[in-house]
Amino acid sequence: MTVPDLLLDLLRRAEADLPGVEILTADEVSPWPAGALEALVQNGFLSPTTPGTSVLCDACLEDHWQDVEFVESPPGTRRAYIVCPEAGRVAVDTARLRRWRVNLTGLAHALGQLLNCTEAPQELVASRLWRLGRTKLGSESRDAFLVRGFTWPNAAEALRLEQRLRRSESSLLLTLVESVVDPPPGTSIVPLSRALSLADSGFSLDLPYIEAVLMSQADHSLGEPYTFRKQGEYWAIRYEGPQFNLPNLKGLRYIACLLASPGRELGVLELVSRVEGQPPRTPLQRVALPETGLRVKGPQEEDDLLDDEARGKYRGRLAELARKKNLSAGELEEKRWLESELRAATGLGGRPRKVASDEEKARVNITNLVRSAIGKISQHDAALAIFLGNSIKTGLRCSYIPDKPITWIVSP
Ligand SMILES: [Zn+2]
Repeated sequence: MTVPDLLLDLLRRAEADLPGVEILTADEVSPWPAGALEALVQNGFLSPTTPGTSVLCDACLEDHWQDVEFVESPPGTRRAYIVCPEAGRVAVDTARLRRWRVNLTGLAHALGQLLNCTEAPQELVASRLWRLGRTKLGSESRDAFLVRGFTWPNAAEALRLEQRLRRSESSLLLTLVESVVDPPPGTSIVPLSRALSLADSGFSLDLPYIEAVLMSQADHSLGEPYTFRKQGEYWAIRYEGPQFNLPNLKGLRYIACLLASPGRELGVLELVSRVEGQPPRTPLQRVALPETGLRVKGPQEEDDLLDDEARGKYRGRLAELARKKNLSAGELEEKRWLESELRAATGLGGRPRKVASDEEKARVNITNLVRSAIGKISQHDAALAIFLGNSIKTGLRCSYIPDKPITWIVSP
């Protein structure tokens, strides 16, 4: 498990409304990268808690948890064991009983320091809401909060956020995981699953990302639907719901380019040149002299690895060598070379293999980039993902043909 993965796992555990999921056993933390557990304990996100009373048996192939029992043997030495139905009494290293608990108050203190808040955090609603203090981000000073369970059904009631935030303008809400819930008016939501990372030196917050979110969500409160534009390192996207940000994915640039030309078909190479800023490359044409008898290939055609003429010559020479009785070392070498060339050029059943043209490569690339970008969009705004899926066509020619007229605010 990598450090970002385990951090995301811990944030999800902390968000989950499931008793016990916030407890980690020694067996769970043992595969973590060296130093990760120590760092998380040191910055307060994990706290040692009461030892476990049972372990998973490691003496047989059955997955069974067994209560740990203790004996004093020799006198003065406490030893732990479990009784396995198959293996009998199995010694247990007591280090396996150690456990840790996700500690959100500890996380709140770490976040307060990262945001240079001057006060100490305050727990406003038990295990749900912490006020971290006042922080300066960009040019503005604002109140920062840590929120757990922002997406739970009872959030509004339990947190009474609107009342709490009424007095403080332009607050920053740090949630544990991404949420699709609208932020209360005048607030911005930043998920820690996107902004928090763990390095050797401890936690760090992606402040440029947070500032980009604050900027775009401030724009959102002014109201600019149908936005698809790049702001710094991020894309600010808004359809009919709230605005959200995505990192700079190439697929978003292709989508933006298509949104800027509604109703028009663009060839893939034209699209590549608009997005990459390079002149369109025309596919290589094989210009043949009349006497060679080779065909001129059109731009839509694919190149065979070997042309028909070369393949015929190789086959003829191979047959000639096969008829000879004693081959010289040179001829043997030639035979092997011809065989390997023909194998490379020929797929199953002796059909010539194709080399994709630039156009075909661009088609596959753009189709995949656009598809994966729409996948990312769907995590924030399912309606927009469906709309784009229905109105964008990719292929050798790509287009954006919406079923309703929309004026997008687009930037490349
Ligand atoms: Zn067992």
